[in-house]
Order: sequence, then C-alpha cells, then structure tokens
Amino acid sequence: MNYFPMFFDLTAQKVLVVGAGEVALRKVELLMRSGASVLLVAPEVHPEFMSRAVAGSIRLAIREFVPEDLEGVRLVIVATSHRALNRWVANLCESRAIPVNVVDDREASRFIVPAIIDRDPVIVAVGTSGTSPVLARRLREKLEALIPKRIGAAALWLRSLRAAAKKQLRDIDTRRRYFETLVDGPAMHRFIEGDEQGARRIAQQLLSTSASTPAAIGDVTLVGAGPGDAELLTLKALRALQDADVILHDRLVSTAVLDMARRDAERICVGKAAGSLGSTQEDINELLIQHASAGRRVVRLKGGDPFIFGRGGEELEALAKACINFSVIPGITAAAGCAAYAGIPLTHRDYAHSVSFVTGHADKRGKEPDWRALAAPGNTAVFYMGLARVDHIVTNLVEHGASPHLPAALVAHGTLPQQRVIVATLATLSETAARITLESPVLLVVGEVVALQGSLAWFGGAESVDISQTA
Ligand code: SAH
Repeated sequence: MNYFPMFFDLTAQKVLVVGAGEVALRKVELLMRSGASVLLVAPEVHPEFMSRAVAGSIRLAIREFVPEDLEGVRLVIVATSHRALNRWVANLCESRAIPVNVVDDREASRFIVPAIIDRDPVIVAVGTSGTSPVLARRLREKLEALIPKRIGAAALWLRSLRAAAKKQLRDIDTRRRYFETLVDGPAMHRFIEGDEQGARRIAQQLLSTSASTPAAIGDVTLVGAGPGDAELLTLKALRALQDADVILHDRLVSTAVLDMARRDAERICVGKAAGSLGSTQEDINELLIQHASAGRRVVRLKGGDPFIFGRGGEELEALAKACINFSVIPGITAAAGCAAYAGIPLTHRDYAHSVSFVTGHADKRGKEPDWRALAAPGNTAVFYMGLARVDHIVTNLVEHGASPHLPAALVAHGTLPQQRVIVATLATLSETAARITLESPVLLVVGEVVALQGSLAWFGGAESVDISQTA
C-alpha cells in the first residue's frame, strides 16, 4: 500500500489553500464543511470567494504566496495553474513536514484526496492510489446507488441510542449484540425507509429484552427441542439454534431438529445413554461453563421440555453459581407431544380432571411416588422412562385402587414417522410389553382417556396389540 487511509479531524485547524480558481473553490467547500479555518492566498480570486470572505467564513489574502503563509498551518492544498509555483510551495511544505496536496500532481503531493460518497456522518472514501481517477469515479457511482440516502441519519440515530444502551446494558458484549441485532434487523430497515417512530419502538423493545437477559460474557440458552418432530420447535428455539456458536445436545434430540441449527455451529452430543461413554452431569455442567466463559453463544438442547425430567434445573444452578447468564426456552414435553399424536386427550371433562407427570425411574433413596393419588379415578398418569419398570408400575397402581381394566398406552417414538402406539389395560400391559419389542424412547399413559384413542387416533398407521384381544 502506498497510502495510509485515514479521516482527519480539521475542526478549527488552519488550512492554507494556494490558488483561487474553480478547483480551489471545490476544495475550499469541502474543507469548510469539515470545520477547518481556511486561509486562501491568490493574486486573483473567483467572485464566490469574495462573498465568503465578506461573510467571514474564510480569510482571503489577495496577493502572491509567501513562505510565511505556512506559519502554524496543519494542511496545505495547492491549486494554481502554475506548475513551477505549485512545486515550489510543495517543496517548502515538505521541508516543514506539513502535509501537502497539489491538485493533479500526484508526485508533488504528500497526500491525495479520495472520491467520496457523502452521507454525513457516514463517509465512504474510494481511492485508487492515483492510478485511475476515472475508475475511482465509476466505483463511487456504483456505491452511491448501493448505499441508502438515509444511512447518515441512521448513524446519528444509532449514536443517540448509545447512552441509554450503556445505562441498561452494562456488559460490552450484550451491547454489541444489541446493536448488531438493531442494525441487521427490522428497526434499521424501518429507519432507512423513513418510519422513524416504528424504528424507535422496535429499538426500545429490543433494549428491554436485551436488558432482561443480559450476557456477561457468553451465555447459555436452555432450549426445549420438543419430542422429535422438528416442526414442533418454537420460533424462539429455532432462532436460538440459528444464533448458536455451539450446541450441546442430548441423544434424544432428533437429527431433524439438529438440522435446523446454523451450519457452522459446533455440535456436541452429551448423551447419557445407559452403558455408553456418555458424559456425567458434572462433565456437562463444566462444558457449558467453559464454552460460555469463552464468550460463545451456547445452546443446551434437550428433548421435550428442559424442566421436565431433563435436569435443566441442575444445569442452571451450576451456571448461576459460575455467574454465567442464561435463559430458558420451553419445549413441548413428551407427554403433550405423544398424547397429541396418539389421539389421547390428557384431560377430558368426562374422564380426567388432573394429569400427573411421573418418572418411572427408581428413586435413588427408594422413595415411591404417591401411588394412591396416581391411581385415583379422574387422573391421567403419564410415566416417563417407565418401560423398564412397567411391572412395578402396574402392580402399584392396582394395589392402590386402580381397576385392572383401566386402559393404558405405550407410545414409542412419539410424533416421529416411526411412532407406535400400543393400547392395553393394566391387566394386560406387562404381558403386551414383554411380547413386543419397543424401541426407546417410550412413554406410558394410564387413565380412562386412553380409551378415546380408538376414535381419535389420526397420526400414522393404526395398531392395537392387546393381549386380551389377540390371545
Ligand atoms: N425432558 C423430556 C423428558 C426427558 S426423560 C421431555 O420433556 O419430554 C426421557 C423420557 O421421555 C423417555 O424415557 C420417554 O419416556 C420420554 N420421551 C421423550 N421423547 C419421547 C418420544 N418422542 N416418544 C416417547 N417418549 C418420549
């Protein structure tokens, strides 16, 4: 590079212009807009200069240039039609280390002036290092068409937002993200289109949402991926996936959902499959903290809803302890997804007034759920992770008052194309489950409402494997 590009603050700085023709006039206009204090020296001047001098905006010296004119000068532009005179002035400037531009004489110039697209305060400068002024002009024309007229006004508007942003968003990264979202999004678009009020309203909304979920360094968004069908993701979940730098996901999350993520986001499977080399909860917490501390936008993606048998709470506790900012995007939990796709209303005015979500997993301390409440008439009981303990569940429900004729359904791969729904009764469920091999994940739904499945099933093929009917 032969030239160092820069923008020079000339406010109240003394600038000397030697020569007073058309070319000098254009330079002087630009200099005055940038706030320079212009001294113009020439034996004859363009009439326009006279009126400016009268108005007091420039100082005129109607005489030949003398070396003393360079006293205390920051910058010099030479624009006479006498080449020898121009070069003499340029040499004097050089020996005094004053930057000089000689119009149309690149060799004699210490600096050259770019072609500009002027959207004050936005200025785009185009230079070809003096190789081709025509090319510079053509480029400028192209950029003129490309850069919105109101971009300068928009820049001033963005500056006016800085104080409020600084006050409400303490952290630099959060502020940067706020302005990025603002500039890339509908607020800026509206401002450019002339809807300033609309732009302000959106910016205000964005500021308050950014303030309620501030990001210290990086942050973690705990996202519910839903039960499997990728179309069941929320709009927020989708946006989070597309903004993420890194995604830590469970094994349960379907590839269709992962395909929704930004292509270059790093994906890490932290599945805790029984018997696999999966990560421990401590490993996962540690990974989340590590990535967020490195300033990355982390998505922790969990099947269903993160707060329902997903240990989402424990992960957030670890983040809170490490002072990492987080937010939560709920998802459709397996009970809601499977019930909907199997045609089992979880509550119904005639059959069920309550619904319980229960883990079928054995409690570490041997604590049992409230079987009597689960078996009570008018309750629908939904067991997560219950397949391995179907016998235990059935025995307890019946022992605590449930009828052996109470209908029960096993839903495997709910909401996915390979969904299977097996309907039985408590009396036949264990045997049914033993006869057919169902692949995980499987959800167990017990209650009167299951009987409605016969007439309400709408998704996938019909399948009814009930020992009492097939035996
Ligand atoms: N947080 C998840 C549940 C995690 S526990 C949620 O809200 O859905 C994992 C259990 O969820 C599985 O053992 C199974 O019982 C159930 N499950 C999750 N997705 C399922 C699906 N698509 N079909 C059937 N059961 C599912």
